[in-house]
Amino acid sequence: MIPVTVVRITDEQEAAVLEVLRSGQLAQGAMVERFEAAFAEIHGVAHAITVNNGTTALIAAMKSLELSPGDEVVTSPFTFVATLNAILDAGATARFADIGDDYNMRADAAEALVSERTHSLMPVHLYGLMADMDGLASIADRHDISIVEDAAQAVGATYRGNAAGSFGVGCFSLYATKNISTGEGGVVTTNDDDVADRLRLMRNQGMRQRYQYEMAGNNYRLTNLAAAVGLPQLAQLDELNAARNANADRYREGLADIDGLILPPPTPADQTHVYHQFTVRVTNDAPIDRDQFVDALLAEGVGSGIYYPRVVFDYDCYREHPNVRVDDDVPKAFEIAKQVVSLPIHPYLSADDAATVIRSVRKVLGR
Ligand SMILES: *Cc1c(COP(=O)(O)O)cnc(C)c1O
Repeated sequence: MIPVTVVRITDEQEAAVLEVLRSGQLAQGAMVERFEAAFAEIHGVAHAITVNNGTTALIAAMKSLELSPGDEVVTSPFTFVATLNAILDAGATARFADIGDDYNMRADAAEALVSERTHSLMPVHLYGLMADMDGLASIADRHDISIVEDAAQAVGATYRGNAAGSFGVGCFSLYATKNISTGEGGVVTTNDDDVADRLRLMRNQGMRQRYQYEMAGNNYRLTNLAAAVGLPQLAQLDELNAARNANADRYREGLADIDGLILPPPTPADQTHVYHQFTVRVTNDAPIDRDQFVDALLAEGVGSGIYYPRVVFDYDCYREHPNVRVDDDVPKAFEIAKQVVSLPIHPYLSADDAATVIRSVRKVLGR
């Protein structure tokens, strides 16, 4: 069986966790600071502020940017539900701009939704490929609005030499299956000293010095234990992402030109993809439908995942939500949600495993 994700813990990680256990400093402390310094360095930003999960990262980022009632956030309709939940939790209204063949929100579609109510653009760098940041940054500049990047799946990805999380306020997840994992965890990145200061206060009950409260805050802190799991992975990030890319190349070669199967479009030359997922589309030209494809692969011993089976707002709880605008037209997102399947691309997938996946995909599609 080739699973869609595999988590491995190294000796370095065990040693770092043991170091924290023996120090007795289990909560936020020195190990968290080391993790933040390494994370900021990798992403070329002035500040990396860890929090307890990626959803919190998004909520904290929104709250750090002065939000008023009625403010709208333009985001992707094709994303994990946390993107939408964070917008709603922060008190904003969500609007959806359609995606392109690269699965990301299109800048022209986003601009069409911008009005005086727009607070920010929230692109989601889905599957590890960054959205059209030149296009989105130009909109943000012209309309004087913020960018909050949902970079949960894009640790270490770059766009024209600039890392995910460096274009606005960046939000990352360290959940168990993400490219860098601490079990649960998140990071907010920014070059803005004031935003960073607010985030650091906010995550720690609004407290600057003991019992000196400067804002109504919360407890969003990451633990030293979690940071110890993550820190050794940051040192390995290039290798881990290179392993994902090597298998992506194998898939692109081995799965080219199959009727009914659309591969992710080639990565633009000025971007690096970190392949959180390698996601293909099974279209009506295939001999079997998407769900049969998943079952047939499983019968061949190949795991896969559907990320995500529905457009994010396509549930009663969101369709009926007063702060969710469901009238924006997003046909591409609806089409793609019916077609996507993610193949195993974790860093421990061997070349032999990738060959097995390729053979199995060809077999179940009659090729
Ligand atoms: C994982 C993820 C999140 C949320 O992160 P958690 O750490 O699970 O809270 C947000 N957005 C996207 C696109 C994600 O994949």
